[in-house]
Amino acid sequence: MKEIILCKYGEIILKGANKATFENLLLKEVRRRAAAIGNYSVRYMQSTVYVEPMDEDAELSIEDMYDQIKRVFGFAGICKAAACEKNMKEICKTTADYVSSSLPYGCSFRAEAKRSDKSFPLSSPEIAAEAGGAILRVRPDVKVDLKRPDVTVRIEVRDKAAYVHAGQDKGAGGIPLGSAGRGLLLLSGGIDSPVAGYMMMKRGLLLDALHFESFPYTSEPAREKVMTLAKELTEYCGRMKVHVISLTRIQEEIRDKCDEDYFTLLLRRFMMKLASRCAEENECSALVTGESLGQVASQTLQALCATETAATVPIFRPCIGLDKDEIVQISRKIGTFDTSILPYEDCCTVFTPKHPKTRPELEKILAEEAKLDFEALIEDAWNSRYAVTKYQFERKER
Ligand code: ATP
Ligand code: MG
Repeated sequence: MKEIILCKYGEIILKGANKATFENLLLKEVRRRAAAIGNYSVRYMQSTVYVEPMDEDAELSIEDMYDQIKRVFGFAGICKAAACEKNMKEICKTTADYVSSSLPYGCSFRAEAKRSDKSFPLSSPEIAAEAGGAILRVRPDVKVDLKRPDVTVRIEVRDKAAYVHAGQDKGAGGIPLGSAGRGLLLLSGGIDSPVAGYMMMKRGLLLDALHFESFPYTSEPAREKVMTLAKELTEYCGRMKVHVISLTRIQEEIRDKCDEDYFTLLLRRFMMKLASRCAEENECSALVTGESLGQVASQTLQALCATETAATVPIFRPCIGLDKDEIVQISRKIGTFDTSILPYEDCCTVFTPKHPKTRPELEKILAEEAKLDFEALIEDAWNSRYAVTKYQFERKER
């Protein structure tokens, strides 16, 4: 009996004339992952992607492939299914063999059939009734419950074959990676920014990352932590280029020349300016941050408005309306939480003011900024940049 993976489209179903663009990106992503695991055929038909092992090794690694597909944005649901010929004898035999061995003892089930091949001689209720009967013959302990079954067994009669499965997992949701263009994620070592990156990838944005460091005030392990987070995000996006820029001189100048209450805001304006430049140079059309309204003094509405004016590309803040524990939940789900809570310093926590302004006036910030040679500091920081690329499937790093 051949087991394959069926992946059902999510939002792409609603796309009109440009649906093919989304489908091609989706297929490209599944194929990229399949190539690293084994010999699989990946094709689509009727709003479903079929992933089929083409040799014994691939059959044995189907769990790994399934695990990879769980992270592909664009699918609403995925399941493993047994494929068989399109006749009732084969369908009943496959249903009895494939499904009945996985039904818990004494459970209730319901068989449901869908017939997208309308030339098939039996109707959907007839297919379901016969397949259900086949289960009862080999598993007398289970019973049928049409209203509230423990398990729903599905039989799909499609163009080329029939497929039998019980239980579908949720897909990653969202729209295919790359369908929304490119963005630049401001990646700190905290909990919020990896979550923000994940949320925007889910909406189709391919991301580069930018990390600001401040040696010797921030350490080597702090930077390594950020590289680990980037690597963890490649589980979703395949690869991520991390640009690193040093803010040391900027921070020292701010510390030496400006009013302490404005330290963080001034620094964040430098960050936005440098990030915009990095975005433009790397063909990224938006910045992505993990900011959440009211979370800290630099994330009040007034503070966000003041720092935003230093950016020259739009800023996406997908966590803006989330509570910290909602962000933590996503962070645990995507697997970045344990790294994020490692206790290393961030440049934003160096020289932090005792009484940061929560309702800053832009005029006053600009007056503080005028005490610095803004452009020269930007130029100096810009020249400190370098980049490292992380890959989901290990490759030699550039
Ligand atoms: P947490 O709030 O969980 O400690 P965070 O990453 O949200 O982590 P904040 O101080 O709230 O940290 O910073 C707000 C946002 O600014 C971050 O989400 C991130 O997008 C950006 N940011 C902060 N520090 C850095 C940094 N060192 N490099 C790049 N971006 C940063
Ligand atoms: Mg935060």
